[in-house]
Amino acid sequence: MKPIDLRSDTVTHPTAAMRQALAEAEVGDDVFGEDPTVLRLERQAADIMGKEAGLLVPSGTMGNLICLLTHCQRGDGVLLGDRSHIFNHEVGGLSALGGLVPHILGNADDGTLPIDALERAIHPDDIHCAPMRLICLENTHNFCHGAPLSADYMNTVGALAKDHGLKLHLDGARLFNAATALDVTPDELAQTADSVMFCLSKGLSAPVGSLVCATEEFIRRARKWRKMLGGGMRQAGHLAAAGLIALKEPMSQLKMDHENALHLALGLEKTPGIELDLHRVKTNILFFRLEHSRISPRTFLDSLAQRNIKILLTGPAEFRAVVHREITRQDIDMVTDAILQLVTG
Ligand SMILES: *Cc1c(COP(=O)(O)O)cnc(C)c1O
Repeated sequence: MKPIDLRSDTVTHPTAAMRQALAEAEVGDDVFGEDPTVLRLERQAADIMGKEAGLLVPSGTMGNLICLLTHCQRGDGVLLGDRSHIFNHEVGGLSALGGLVPHILGNADDGTLPIDALERAIHPDDIHCAPMRLICLENTHNFCHGAPLSADYMNTVGALAKDHGLKLHLDGARLFNAATALDVTPDELAQTADSVMFCLSKGLSAPVGSLVCATEEFIRRARKWRKMLGGGMRQAGHLAAAGLIALKEPMSQLKMDHENALHLALGLEKTPGIELDLHRVKTNILFFRLEHSRISPRTFLDSLAQRNIKILLTGPAEFRAVVHREITRQDIDMVTDAILQLVTG
């Protein structure tokens, strides 16, 4: 039986159309700039994001790191959220490889960095302080329950960064989810970002790949960092071909994923022993807590696994479920039934 895998949207498999495109792709050596399919994907990604140029990278983690390395010098300060993926889930690469100094601000529950906290943190050029160079935002914000950050907020931070001579990087791993939830186009959210990274490999279901989009000059330097980090891929057009399919109307699938996530949330909210903030479920990610006297979080996870249901334990009694293309309404009803049985059985 196919597992119901809610651990992440990264588990999605390439679609039949992607597999076919991947097999038939016209390819060349991309390190020499000779892969026509990669060039096409990079052009298309840049157009969608409203930027001059794009760069295909093997992963979102490498894409974010490349952007930080391209914006900053060793010893520079970077403003980041305490719940951000770059700070918590990218192996500390910004410090280990970039020599950068993370300046951590508390994320609000809606995924934003409060404007007043940002303003306080952007200190003038004090002799004692690492020079502040960059602000990073995440949209949707994964560990803030997949919250989408509005275009207004993005523009406000963009203007603030500009006023203070800072750059703005957008970790838009799930930017298409944000655009879908807010009913805007991705470029409206990326407009004031100096660089944006988004993933093909999550809800968009491509097997591998992320894109960095920015000015031509930035991408030229980013390409060099990609090579240094070992991310120069040769006949990457096979991957790019799947990416081009992923970018064909991605938002209709994501809209369905969001509806399904809400359906799951509504089911869980009614379940005794499950604590879930319904109003925070806005995209394809939901978090919930188990408050049960007899069932430990570990037992809960194992019992679900026995029923072929996989979710992620993210805190002492906190779980994350991510809805994607391969999760149907029927799957969701099976999950809520299984959880209800577990907690009441
Ligand atoms: C998944 C994710 C990334 C990194 O993507 P990988 O391709 O897994 O390296 C970056 N930022 C956020 C917010 C993510 O959810």
